[in-house]
Amino acid sequence: MDKVYNFCAGPAMIPADVMAQAQHELINWQGLGTSVMEISHRSKEFLAVAAQSEQDLRDLLNIPANYHVLFCHGGARGQFAAVPLNLLGEATTADYMDGGFWAHSAVEEASKYCQPNNIDITCVKEGKKAILPAAEWSLSDEAAFVHFCPNETIDGIEIRDLPITDKPIVADMSSTILSRQIDVSKYGVIYAGAQKNIGPAGLTIVIVRDDLLGKAKSILPSILDYTVLVDKDSMFNTPPTFAWYLAGEVFKWLKSVGGVAAMEQRNLAKAKLLYDFIDHSNFYINNVHADNRSVMNVPFQLKNPDLDAVFLAQAEVVGLKALKGHRVAGGMRASIYNAMPLDGVQALVDFMQMFEKNNA
Ligand code: PLP
Repeated sequence: MDKVYNFCAGPAMIPADVMAQAQHELINWQGLGTSVMEISHRSKEFLAVAAQSEQDLRDLLNIPANYHVLFCHGGARGQFAAVPLNLLGEATTADYMDGGFWAHSAVEEASKYCQPNNIDITCVKEGKKAILPAAEWSLSDEAAFVHFCPNETIDGIEIRDLPITDKPIVADMSSTILSRQIDVSKYGVIYAGAQKNIGPAGLTIVIVRDDLLGKAKSILPSILDYTVLVDKDSMFNTPPTFAWYLAGEVFKWLKSVGGVAAMEQRNLAKAKLLYDFIDHSNFYINNVHADNRSVMNVPFQLKNPDLDAVFLAQAEVVGLKALKGHRVAGGMRASIYNAMPLDGVQALVDFMQMFEKNNA
């Protein structure tokens, strides 16, 4: 097999250049004779990694000074609990925009701590799955914050609108962070599990606006308390040092290839290539309306699902890995995060074309 392209939704591909370098550093990092994962998080060498990675992320996303950047444990699901417990204050409700699997999972977790207002924002447009315009999202007056998931990894749905509100907007950006330009100042909290667009699993990034600190409920575990994490520079307990280090290397790589603006163009080109091919085929379907198609996660079905297993087996043989759709969605899914080169998407399209020719 010449080259392998991994379309996994997460843990996902890490840029090849970063992996090549990390390989050497597993034995001897910075001439210390040890790897970065074996040194203290409080060593001057690791503190330098922590400071540089935060600065690089700030540069990439243009994060304003009144926002804190946290490098945490617990994944995005940890944040499903951390968000209400940090932000509710005296309120008993928050608005949760329900656009797909992950937004729905967030509301389920939140309902342990408050009475979330679960707002279904899905609709059907021209026979395809879509999202209602933000002006039609019925927000409540009592909500402490408004939560939404801009990219639904499983459904392949992207929400480009922001909630229209003066409440803090909280976004689960696990599968979209750093893939396109955003205006951080419009959000109260942004969080993301690292294992898709950032680096290895085990690290969660939280970007939180300063005025939202200090409201945590007393039952909130300290390791999820934003105020504690800010006070302790994300080192209240031992942080996931290797994942943090590698995330920092991915940030450097991203800067070296032109930053988020360049990556956005590259991602749009990759997605267009794949969606255009699917739309012109009588063999494959994507059932999401063009207005809400995810640039990162492209679910597609074979019109004849009896061929699914053969498709996946043959794709695997030519090095196209992890194309099986999520168990709740079925079919196929190609996750084409930042680290997936255009060549990888072209290889997938070539394979799909050949498979169609042989099986139509
Ligand atoms: N939110 C989104 C949008 C996701 O895609 C995922 C995982 O795929 C999660 C949350 C759950 O993330 P974690 O496994 O880090 O808890």
